Amino acid sequence: MPELPEVHTTVTGLSRYTVGLRIQDVWSSYNSAHFKGSKTIKDPAYFEEFKKGIIGAHIVSAERRAKNILIHLDTKKTILIHMKMTGHLLYGTYRFDASLPKDPWCAVEPKHLTDPFNRHVRFLISFDNGKSLALSDVRKFAKVTLVSSDDIYTSDHLKDIGPEPLEKEFTFNEFIGRLNLRPRGKIKQVLMDQTIVAGIGNIYADESLWRADIHPLTLVQHIPTDIRKKLYTAILQTLSRGIDMGGDSTSDYRNIHGERGKFHEQHYAYRQTGTKCQKKGCLGTIVRIVLGGRGTHLCSAHQRLLE
Ligand SMILES: [Zn+2]
Repeated sequence: MPELPEVHTTVTGLSRYTVGLRIQDVWSSYNSAHFKGSKTIKDPAYFEEFKKGIIGAHIVSAERRAKNILIHLDTKKTILIHMKMTGHLLYGTYRFDASLPKDPWCAVEPKHLTDPFNRHVRFLISFDNGKSLALSDVRKFAKVTLVSSDDIYTSDHLKDIGPEPLEKEFTFNEFIGRLNLRPRGKIKQVLMDQTIVAGIGNIYADESLWRADIHPLTLVQHIPTDIRKKLYTAILQTLSRGIDMGGDSTSDYRNIHGERGKFHEQHYAYRQTGTKCQKKGCLGTIVRIVLGGRGTHLCSAHQRLLE
């Protein structure tokens, strides 16, 4: 699932390429009677409402909040997109081929949009400049909806989300305060809890814990202050590194031009099972355990379980 650095990368692209564009039309194949009443475009009736709400509007800005993409329109409405497991937004030229009923939108340019990971277009906004914004989402879990811009931060989608770790207000003391809300929680699960801190998922949690020498199952209350400090620094460094690398493309994620990020080329723990630990002086091996149904990767030697 795209995490903070991937969503950041997408939003940076949207800000650069789509601001000022006028929405001419919108198309979706998410629609299913199964999602009736969901208040997302998966509900066919809601999709009609959504369409009326955005056609003719101009994009004024794009923003990230946790793992959500907010596209603000000049009509005081905001398109909210959560890419979930396999979704990612793409920008370029598309043509509609009715002979391909399953995936009728074919990318023309840029060339990376033809990457197989980018071909599952379920939602597409066309602009007055002849280009489109497409959402490729092989597993169809993404969420797209329209919210009043004035109410967006207090809406059910965002109201319970914790602070942004890369904002300057997110000091070490703030971090400690957030962790202390879950003293008996396992640290990895606490880091991934969006109501505690925004934007961290499986990849950046595993990598941050590896850097901070903490076993993912350690209970928050057993982590001493000096190690918490190390973790705070590790989170900031790991997320910043993810942004610098253009995100992580271990899985489906691509930037809006359809290109892969590079963070997955620098993993120390995530999906490195069986490899020798790269921490200086450590003789451990990366192992995989399951925590809360999710694969969790750690070094068998230097990430000690504190009790
Ligand atoms: Zn190690």
